[in-house]
Amino acid sequence: MRICISCRKTYDRKNLLKITKDHKQGIMFQRGMGRSAYICKSKKCFSDSKIKKKLQKALKTFLDPEFTEIFEKEITAYNDFPNKGI
Ligand SMILES: [Zn+2]
Repeated sequence: MRICISCRKTYDRKNLLKITKDHKQGIMFQRGMGRSAYICKSKKCFSDSKIKKKLQKALKTFLDPEFTEIFEKEITAYNDFPNKGI
C-alpha cells in the first residue's frame, strides 16, 4: 500500500502512477530506481494545480517545464490502459 501525494489516501500500488527520480536517467514513470512518489487515478489528484510542487517536494528535485507536458501524456495513457506496465 502506498500513499497518493495529493489526497494522502492509501491505495494498492496497481492503482497508482509511480514517478521516480532515477539515479541515472532522471524522472521516470512506473519504473526506475530511486526516490519515488505516487499519484492515484483520481482526476482531482493528477489535475491538482499544486501537483508539480508536491512532486518536487516528494522527489526532492526540480522539475523542468517539459515535465508537465510529459506527465499529462503519461497520466492520459495510464488512464486509457489501467493495467499497463504494472
Ligand atoms: Zn489521490
